[in-house]
Amino acid sequence: MIRVLFIDVDDTLLDFDKCSAESMNLAAREMEIDLPEDFLTVFHRENDKIWQRLEKGMLTMEELFRIRFQTIFKAAGIEADGVLFESLFRKNLERTAVPVEHALDFLKAMKGRYLLYAASNGPYHQQASRLAQAGMDVWLDGIFVSEEVGFSKPKKEFFDVCFSRLGDIKPEESMMVGDSLTADIGGAHDYGMRTCWLNRKHKKPSDPNIINIEIDSLQELCYNPDIIGRI
Ligand SMILES: [Mg+2]
Repeated sequence: MIRVLFIDVDDTLLDFDKCSAESMNLAAREMEIDLPEDFLTVFHRENDKIWQRLEKGMLTMEELFRIRFQTIFKAAGIEADGVLFESLFRKNLERTAVPVEHALDFLKAMKGRYLLYAASNGPYHQQASRLAQAGMDVWLDGIFVSEEVGFSKPKKEFFDVCFSRLGDIKPEESMMVGDSLTADIGGAHDYGMRTCWLNRKHKKPSDPNIINIEIDSLQELCYNPDIIGRI
C-alpha cells in the first residue's frame, strides 16, 4: 500500500520552462544583453546536458552554477559574464513560481490520502521559496531538496536520507511522481519505490520497465486518485 508520495518540483509542480524564461529575460535586461531568438532552445539543450552531468556525479551543484551560463553563452555566441548572469538568474528564479497545469488541484486531491513530500535537486532556499509563492507549501508534509539533503537524485544516498527522516516507511510504500526518467523515475525504481512518470511532452521512454504509471497531465491523478492505490 502506498503511504507516501515523493513529488519532483521543476516541470512537475512548477513550470521550469516558464519560470526560467521569465528569470532570464529579467537578468538580460539588468545586464543590458540582447538574447538571440533561439536562446531558449540553446538554454534548454545545454542546461539539460549540464544537469545530466550533475546527476551522474560528474559535477557538484557549485560547479554547475559556475559553468552553466558560461557554457550556454558560448553555445549561443554571446559575450557576457556568465557568472554574474547566473547570480541574477537565480535571484529572479527565486521570485518566479509558475505552476504546472493542475499541480495545485493534484496536491489538494492527494492531501489526506498520502503523505506528500516535494523531492527536488537544487538550492534549498530557492525551491522552498518558490513552493511557498505558488501556495503549495501548505499542502506538503515536507520538502527534501538536494542541497540540504547532501546528495542529489537519483543517488541512493538521497533516498537513504529521505527515508531515514520518514521513520518506518518502506520504499515499496512510496511512489515518486516526476518528469525526469533519470533523476526521478530511474532513481526511485532502483531504490525499490513505485513510480509515476509525468510525460507532458509525450516522449518515448528509454526503459518502460521502470515506470508503474504514465500520465500526461496531473489532472489524470485528480480524477482517478485510486489508480495509485492499485499499484
Ligand atoms: Mg523535474
